[in-house]
Amino acid sequence: MISVKEAKQIVNEHCHQLGAIHIDLYKATGFVLAEDIYAQHDSPPFNQSAMDGYAYSFSEGSPTKELLIIGEMAAGDLPKNISVNNSAIRIFTGAQVPPEFDTVVMQEKVEVTGDKLVIKDEAEKKGMNVRLKGSQIAKGSLALKSGTIIKPGTSGFLASIGIDQVKVTRRPKISIISTGNELMAPGKDLDPGKVYECNTYSLNAALTEYGIEQIAIYKVLDNQKDIESAVSKCLQDSDVIILSGGVSVGDYDFVSRALETCGVKCLFHKVKQKPGKPLYFGKKDDTLVFGLPGNPAALLTCFYEYIAPMLFKMMGYPSEQTDKIQLKLSAPYVKKEGLTHFLKGKANGGEVTILNAQESYLMSSFAMANCIVQLDESRSNFEKGELVEVQLLH
Ligand code: AMP
Ligand code: MG
Repeated sequence: MISVKEAKQIVNEHCHQLGAIHIDLYKATGFVLAEDIYAQHDSPPFNQSAMDGYAYSFSEGSPTKELLIIGEMAAGDLPKNISVNNSAIRIFTGAQVPPEFDTVVMQEKVEVTGDKLVIKDEAEKKGMNVRLKGSQIAKGSLALKSGTIIKPGTSGFLASIGIDQVKVTRRPKISIISTGNELMAPGKDLDPGKVYECNTYSLNAALTEYGIEQIAIYKVLDNQKDIESAVSKCLQDSDVIILSGGVSVGDYDFVSRALETCGVKCLFHKVKQKPGKPLYFGKKDDTLVFGLPGNPAALLTCFYEYIAPMLFKMMGYPSEQTDKIQLKLSAPYVKKEGLTHFLKGKANGGEVTILNAQESYLMSSFAMANCIVQLDESRSNFEKGELVEVQLLH
């Protein structure tokens, strides 16, 4: 059996960043830029008033000087021919400052009588209240680097420099195959001997949180032929296949045999960890295949520990995105040596509390958790206040 570290390394070696697509900026939230973006225009495109006030030429303005108001410019207006001698124009925020003028005085700092303007700004300075052409970014310069995650600020910045389409790393297409004779979809009364199927729900939710939309869900019985036909269908068009259940070595665990028949090469099966010891990872051509143990908390833990970092890499996210943080344990904890433990936790400030109900069949603690605490394979006693590795949940 391999260690968690070795297993994660194998997954990392076998996954690659996906190709790029061009998409509409409105749809690009959370995607990662797959190209450097250079500004095609100056931004702002012209000298622009930052205030409602009066534009004038600085050399002519002084607290005592009277200027003649000769016109008005609102945002979007084009400048007209202006005679500059002792003149000013009424101007509004966002309007183009006519080339003859260089300064804007706020409307609160003037005295206006008819068409006469007197500037009463103690702090008057040449160029004040004018946003210079190209001051956000000059035409031809680098606006954003490849690898930037598109967040609201990024989107607004790109649009402000005239971009409405971006080249981003595409997101993976994922198939989920849930196995188990005992499973029934929620929403109906349970038949005797059955339990509600919940793994496709937690996986679907986790994938959706990562912005993945192409998710196909299949539910099959514990029957090798059915699993094989679902797997071979999914192999044709999935980047990643996630199987739930049937991956141990019981009489009804057909997953690894079915995968072998379908030509999936096993890269590891079983990891020194709790929960999730039977974890399977394999590959056929470019499709990556995970067999996750069916116990719901084990399944979701394996998702967060192995699949989430892999998906981040495939989607082009910088690796810091999946880095773990260190927090202090709020209470001592004892475990057996030999397996890495992953425990549902609640991080609060610099501390983390390990929740009750850690057994792998229980989802109640996961419903409350905001992180997963990782405790070292080779250790058994953990002290209160000791720093431990924590993965914050998305
Ligand atoms: P398995 O890994 O198939 O041996 O299943 C281990 C445990 O997880 C059993 O108690 C199953 O009933 C349960 N289980 C498996 N798949 C699911 C699922 N999709 N939803 C809820 N429980 C499941
Ligand atoms: Mg099963």
